[in-house]
Amino acid sequence: MMNYDVIIIGAGPGGIFSAFELMRMKPELKVAVFEAGHALDKRHCPIDGEKIKTCIGCRSCSIMSGFGGAGAFSDGKYNITNDFGGTLYEYIGKTKALELMHYVDEINMRYGGKGTRLYSTAGTKFKKLCIQHNLHLLNASVRHLGTDVNYVVLENLYADLRNKVDFFFDTPVEHVTAIEGGYGVHLKDKTYTCKDCVISVGRIGSKWMERVCNELQIPTKSNRVDIGVRVELPAEVFSHLTDELYESKIVYRTEKYGDLVRTFCMNPKGAVVNENTNGIITVNGHSYEDPARQTENTNFALLVAKHFSEPFKDSNGYGESIARLSNMLGGGVIVQRFGDLIRGRRSNNDRMKDSFLTPTLNATPGDLSLVLPKRILDGIIEMIYALDKVAPGTANDDTLLYGVEVKFYNMEVAVSDKLESRYKGLYIIGDGSGITHSLSHASASGVHVARAIAEG
Ligand SMILES: Cc1cc2nc3c(=O)[nH]c(=O)nc-3n(C[C@H](O)[C@H](O)[C@H](O)COP(=O)(O)OP(=O)(O)OC[C@H]3O[C@@H](n4cnc5c(N)ncnc54)[C@H](O)[C@@H]3O)c2cc1C
Repeated sequence: MMNYDVIIIGAGPGGIFSAFELMRMKPELKVAVFEAGHALDKRHCPIDGEKIKTCIGCRSCSIMSGFGGAGAFSDGKYNITNDFGGTLYEYIGKTKALELMHYVDEINMRYGGKGTRLYSTAGTKFKKLCIQHNLHLLNASVRHLGTDVNYVVLENLYADLRNKVDFFFDTPVEHVTAIEGGYGVHLKDKTYTCKDCVISVGRIGSKWMERVCNELQIPTKSNRVDIGVRVELPAEVFSHLTDELYESKIVYRTEKYGDLVRTFCMNPKGAVVNENTNGIITVNGHSYEDPARQTENTNFALLVAKHFSEPFKDSNGYGESIARLSNMLGGGVIVQRFGDLIRGRRSNNDRMKDSFLTPTLNATPGDLSLVLPKRILDGIIEMIYALDKVAPGTANDDTLLYGVEVKFYNMEVAVSDKLESRYKGLYIIGDGSGITHSLSHASASGVHVARAIAEG
């Protein structure tokens, strides 16, 4: 006898939507979710910018872990697209992937998101404007839930699921083993068994995932990291784009090296925040749907994708080293005025005080050219000048650059079109699989495996 029909490891969007869909399709199944982090109401990051300014290394990072996963305090930008956010479509097809993302969006609306706006690039005049300046606007529909509504949706999903599924919080899984007819899910001092196992451990579980794949001899590949800065400027500079599209994903090919630089995670009237990845402080951003919590600034990341070829394999280690360098120089995140960067001088408190822009994150003024590799910095500067043509004011002296922003990618795990590993009944989904990098793709992958399990 197995303890459970299905055990889900990780309660991020991938895990939550696996549980949700399993319960909808087969409520008679006995399902458990093991989550290393806290329950939603217990999640709290101690960094307040005043008493506690930097990461104090909590045993479980509340930003990245717990019910809701890495997305719980995110801006809740739910992008319905195959153009970015992951490569789920390569496994299940473009039509199916979009269908699942729309399905999850409908559930989010039912669980508290109703009334939030769905933006779209369809038919926008900005596509032409961008192309005229060698910039490429990617296609997407984006639902902006906002950090506040995103939290409410998670609260409601948990209230519904908690009576149907066994949740174990603060319960990291140590190993997974293949046993006769299923899997052993090993905790520190106990083992549970199940017929099917869904692994959805996200980005924070990347090292764990790598170990488990080694132990079970599941093939993987890895070669990418995205490195860059978070740009902050007055909201008016981008308001013509953000009012219509909310988020514009724009890609630029640099003249100097032919590298691709892209905008990422745009937060109109938002705030720049710290992010902690394995004890390294990087930067991110979010914004609220509630006008009372909005700021006068817009922020977005400019990222350069770095792909490595053989023999180098540790792309995440490379990104971590650059982020560590900024932490070494700035004690955390560094902020620099664009005008100072261009003039080859550091920003300091006096220059920051003279600025017309009020930063939303308390970061250390410094010099990003001492941190970022020249090729990456050159690409970012080139793109800022290109963006200045579609959003004049982007290349102003007072525009702030926070560094570094790093997007780590999990190694890609070999799975089938059902997202099943080479072991029958062992599914690997969400960001932990390396296939998804977003709320929408991760959630959709959860629904996909739940259906595969429920349909047998
Ligand atoms: C600050 C921030 C803002 C973001 N904003 C957006 C946004 O606006 N839009 C967007 O599309 N994406 C955004 N993202 C990315 C998005 O949150 C992720 O793509 C998404 O959460 C991935 O879902 P997941 O279920 O695959 O993994 P995760 O959400 O990372 O969840 C994985 C869970 O597994 C748990 N876990 C890990 N290892 C174990 C273990 N061994 N045992 C038990 N549990 C384990 C973790 O604690 C975690 O809770 C943001 C991310 C961050 C950090």
